[in-house]
Amino acid sequence: MRVRKKPWAASFINDHQEYIVLEPKNYLGKWQSRFAKEQPLHVEIGTGKGQFIIEMAKQHPEINFIGIELQESVIATALRTFLEAPTPNLQFVLTDGGDVNEFFNQHEIEKIYLNFSDPWPKSRHAKRRLTSPGFLKSYQEVLQEDGAIEFKTDNRGLFEYSLISFNNYGMSYEYVSLDLHNSPEAVTNVETEYEQKFSPKGPIYKLVAKFNS
Ligand code: SAM
Repeated sequence: MRVRKKPWAASFINDHQEYIVLEPKNYLGKWQSRFAKEQPLHVEIGTGKGQFIIEMAKQHPEINFIGIELQESVIATALRTFLEAPTPNLQFVLTDGGDVNEFFNQHEIEKIYLNFSDPWPKSRHAKRRLTSPGFLKSYQEVLQEDGAIEFKTDNRGLFEYSLISFNNYGMSYEYVSLDLHNSPEAVTNVETEYEQKFSPKGPIYKLVAKFNS
């Protein structure tokens, strides 16, 4: 997803570094110091404009959340929305989430959310999909042994690819839905921005998977 550069984004981010980390390697082993309380850590990779993670942080004060996003203009919008009603259990990180194993300690994270990740439909770009084996290896390092990946998408091709990728990696499924919004879990589902936009056009797929220890 390409986004037009926002001229205000860089200085806005610079001015609010109490809520956004620009050098994540500086926090290796120290992430809990960014929060009011030491609590389980949940991380969303590709957080976009933050709708999901901001609402999750409101609903779950007992969890510390981190939203990672690659694009400055996008995360600046997330930060701006968050600042309308900040909660002490959410931090943003401007970086490539594929490198999580370089700035989180082993087994530091309880849950990773991948929501509406870019599908990279061409097979020559398969390695860029956030559910491809190279990324799974990084997630495995940083997730707790019983930790989970929660993945949602409207893209059937990416969902099929991810089911196979997770299975080939030896992961097990806790939950799979081919139509999340018409399932019992819809009641507790927190919608992302893309989910709101694309769910009227077709089903939302979801899976929850764990690495077998
Ligand atoms: N999760 C949001 C939602 O569901 O509304 C945004 C979905 S958007 C299609 C995908 C987002 O992931 C984009 O904002 C993109 O910049 C971000 N992204 C893609 N690859 C990433 C990576 N390796 N690390 C961090 N963010 C990434």
